[in-house]
Amino acid sequence: MTKMDETLLMLKELTDVNGIAGNESQPREVMKRMIEPYADSITFDGIGSLIAEKKGAENGPRIMLAGHLDEVGFMVTRIDEKGFIFFQTIGGWWSQVMLSQRVTVTTSKGEEITGIIGSTPPHVLPPEARKKPADIKDMFIDIGAASREEAMDWGIRPGDMITPYFEFTVMKNSQMLMAKAWDNRIGCAIAIEAMKRLKDEKHPNIFYGVGTVQEEVGLRGAKTAAAAVQPDIAIAVDVGIAADTPGLSEKHGIAKAGKGPGLVLYDASLVAHKGLREFIEGVAEEMNIPYQYDHIPGGGTDAGSFHLAGTGAPSIAVTIPTRYIHSNAGILNRDDFENTVCLIVELVKRLDRQAVDQIKYS
Ligand SMILES: [Zn+2]
Repeated sequence: MTKMDETLLMLKELTDVNGIAGNESQPREVMKRMIEPYADSITFDGIGSLIAEKKGAENGPRIMLAGHLDEVGFMVTRIDEKGFIFFQTIGGWWSQVMLSQRVTVTTSKGEEITGIIGSTPPHVLPPEARKKPADIKDMFIDIGAASREEAMDWGIRPGDMITPYFEFTVMKNSQMLMAKAWDNRIGCAIAIEAMKRLKDEKHPNIFYGVGTVQEEVGLRGAKTAAAAVQPDIAIAVDVGIAADTPGLSEKHGIAKAGKGPGLVLYDASLVAHKGLREFIEGVAEEMNIPYQYDHIPGGGTDAGSFHLAGTGAPSIAVTIPTRYIHSNAGILNRDDFENTVCLIVELVKRLDRQAVDQIKYS
């Protein structure tokens, strides 16, 4: 196994930990422990988003950078008499990536119970059924319990969270990192790392490194976190679609893993603020940081809520192009993490009141 450096250990811990929307306590604890040493204060909004504040200038503009703490997963809705678990998807899932995947059920007492989404062997599937994707409504999780009573005895209750199981893996090409929950622990990692690198830097603003809750069910923590921060500028860091695998082309996406942070021009929740985007492009070009454009008409990010907070704040989403998001595991390129952190740090160093006013009214 590759010996992991400090960054890899951080990414491993952030992605291996489990937390779907409304159940973010584990990733929040990890993020809190990691960002606390570099922040002046840590607070929370009313539904659990974490807000780390670092004052570079007492009366400077408020710059908010946020990843979301929640990952896609499932929730127990009922246990049948044979001990099989039926569930609600939390976040967007495509049925074809679900069958036969290993999952973890976290009981209300915190015990983690291993299960698998059951599938039908091809031997007994009629030819017609083999051609059709399975229906999520028919899916169930097998935890090896013999009865409902046994599953209940083990502490499983309706409402418990279920998460994909996957262990963080550095691939043979050690730039390529495979993990569950890149969406969006990579955003949390960037917020932590940016605050760490700003520790001994001067910055003419108040910088907020934020972990929002409940993004995958509709950018909900983004609303409450932005109400708490009242940002002058807001940036969501999230995964984008890496359109660099077989079957995907420019028609589906324009970002590729390893080619730099993606500036999302347009998604279903936001038109990137033009002045902010141009300012970021200027910083990237000045510092020779690669960047690319992204375009996600079928998705949104927390920036969709940020830009409408209060009377409005110039906002943009910066993405790490990631393969196979919203499945058991995804792959991203470590260079994109590094370059995104560099870009954010350089940006924060430059966002004084004058620059923010210029962006706002451009
Ligand atoms: Zn997502």
